[in-house]
Formats: sequence, C-alpha cells, structure tokens
Amino acid sequence: MIWLRTALVLGLLGSAVASADAETVVLRGGSLYASPDATALPDAVVVMTDGVISAVGKFGDVQVPADARVIDCSGKTIVAGFWNSHVHFTEPVWRNAGTAPAAPLTQHMQEMLTRWGFTTVWDLGSDPGDSLPLRQRIAKGEIAGPTILFAGNIFPKGGHPVYIPREVQLPEVATPEEATKWARDWLAIGEDGIKLFTGAFMGDKPVVNMDPAIAKAAVEVAHAQGKPVFAHPQNKVGVETVIASDVDVLAHTTPGERAYTDDQLARFKAHGTALIPTLSLFTTVVLDPNVTNRLIAATGNQLKQFSENGGTVLFGTDVGFTQIYDTTQEVELMHRALSERQVLASLTTNPATFFKAAKKGRVETGFDADLVVLDGDPVSDVRNLAKVSATIRAGHVIYQKR
Ligand SMILES: [Zn+2]
Repeated sequence: MIWLRTALVLGLLGSAVASADAETVVLRGGSLYASPDATALPDAVVVMTDGVISAVGKFGDVQVPADARVIDCSGKTIVAGFWNSHVHFTEPVWRNAGTAPAAPLTQHMQEMLTRWGFTTVWDLGSDPGDSLPLRQRIAKGEIAGPTILFAGNIFPKGGHPVYIPREVQLPEVATPEEATKWARDWLAIGEDGIKLFTGAFMGDKPVVNMDPAIAKAAVEVAHAQGKPVFAHPQNKVGVETVIASDVDVLAHTTPGERAYTDDQLARFKAHGTALIPTLSLFTTVVLDPNVTNRLIAATGNQLKQFSENGGTVLFGTDVGFTQIYDTTQEVELMHRALSERQVLASLTTNPATFFKAAKKGRVETGFDADLVVLDGDPVSDVRNLAKVSATIRAGHVIYQKR
C-alpha cells in the first residue's frame, strides 16, 4: 500500500502544481485602456496564460478557453499594472523577511502595496539582508507581492540623515574611490541600481551635500553595468549635483525651493532626467498647516514645470518611510499639475519605458500579465486610480477586493 499512497500524494501534488502553473486567467466585461493615450475599449476580454497576455480584444472577438478562471469585470476598468518607483521595505514587519511566516508578510504587502495596484516597485533603500530574501520568496510564490527592484544607498561623509536611526550603519563615503567600491559592492549582491544622497537632511543643522566627483564615480559604475542612479537632492546644491554627475532620477521634488530654474530645466531635458514627485510625503514633514501648504504649492509647481518641460514623471510615494499607504492623496496632488492620463502614464508607460522594461506598461498581446482592475474610470475621475478591485502580476491574482 505504500507505493499507492506515494503515488496518490505525487499525483495530487502533480496536479496542484500543474494547475497553479498552467492556470489561464481571463478578465471579462470591463472597459480597457491598453495604454494611457488609448481610447477605452468597452466590453473587453484579456486572456493571460503562463504569465503573459495571450489575447486582448472585444467580447465575442476573443476565444475564452473553457478551463480558464474568469474574473467578471463588468462596470470596471482594466489598465496595466502600476509601478511605485519610490518605496522602502524598512518597517519592522519586514525584519527577518527571509524566514518569517508568509501570511503576515502577504497581509502587510497587501495593506502597503498590492491593494493599491502595484505590480512593480523600486525599493530605494532597505536592509538587503531582509529585502533580497523577500524578493526571492515572492518569486517562488510563497508571498503575494510585486516585482521588486532595489537601489543600494550611498551617503556623503557626515551625512547620516536625521530621520534614520543612529544605530543603523550607513555607507558614508569621503572619496570617489570609496563611492566606486560601494557602487560595485551593491550591484554585486544583486541590487538593480544606486541611490545617492546628493543632499542629506540633518534637521536643524545644514544639509550635507555630496561632492559631485564622488557622485560621478558611483554613476560611472552603475552606467557601465546599464543600471540607473537615483538621488535624494534635498536642496538646490543637491539638484545641481544630480545634473553635474549625470544622475538619472530625482527621487523627490525639493521642498525648500519654489521652482526649478530655467537653466536646471534645460539641463534636465538635455540629460533626460526623470522626476519622482513624492508630493504626499510633504504633507507629513511639518506640523504647521501653513508651512505644509507652502511645501505642497512649491513641490507641485516643480512637478508642473518639469512635466511641461517634457520630462519623464514617475509615480512614487516613499511609502514604507511614510505610512500613507492609500494613494488617493498622491494622485489628487499630482492631478493639480497633470492630466488624468498623465498620472496614469506615471504609473505605467513612463516607468516601463524609462527603466527599459519592454514588456510592461501596456495591456497588449505578448506583454507581461501585470494588470489592475479599477472600480471606476480613472480618466473621468483620477481618484479611481486608488480604487482597486484586483491586482494581477505575472498572471496571478495577488490582490482581490472581497
Ligand atoms: Zn525614500
């Protein structure tokens, strides 16, 4: 009887694995925006097989496989999976993420990211001992989460930001050689980019800026390996260092400055610099509502200038550092400067293009099956970008509203 039981167990395991792998998921009946500039396709069908979009079209024109798992999307809107290009896996819940039980991690991933439609995120600074194993567990299917990309941080000497606990050891560099070594080491352990603190916030004390020659040394290492470099600019000098050292992405707007100068805008354009506005972050940094209003007006103005200058805007919230998981406020603040379709682009096509993810950002045959089902049309009301009914990554439902 032993062989029979073994055979049964193997048989059950075999079929469970086969159905999980080969599951075909179909979204049926929603209105579809294949990309931010496309007209809406009503009564759409999206077929996903083996993690890839295998067919897209109008109901009746597309064959729905008989064994498919069909998700009824009537009255809803289907768009490509969202990117959050500025997050942190640093909250206490992620400690020992390599070995901690999966359920609470999936639960928190849902609260922080997947219930807001995120299928790809850039972690711009965390403990790789926790976050790299977290990525592996998501890839294995143990934890339902987004695709994670990581940027290793480099700080200027004496520039340990006031908001990072003193006991956390940070890579502070004093010379270009040290920056070169740190950049190489970060990429060697599997990080996907570098983040430089070209300006570090020191509270009551002056901002500590990074020497442009140090920034340049790290950028050269990253660019030689085809990896992007982000920067936390903090002040005008930090922005100038971004431009002088050919950094790719401003990880924040600059709350202390009212506007970018014409000269900065011209050089952003020449360099192809991208901007992550993180506007809702600036609602949390001071208590005085008048000051907050000034910060929001200034950073919103920078976003408007940057976008009108033709720059690439990438959606990002600094969530994990902030506890504002709900993305409603961010999309509303962005919408003061951008159209609904531009905000959607900052979540989808802009990051896919900028980070060279050729099979992401659009709902088209042959693209990755990363999708979001929204309760309402985001082009008629931008707040609908935060009303997520389901999130699908690589053809697997990683969040579904009950
Ligand atoms: Zn951050």
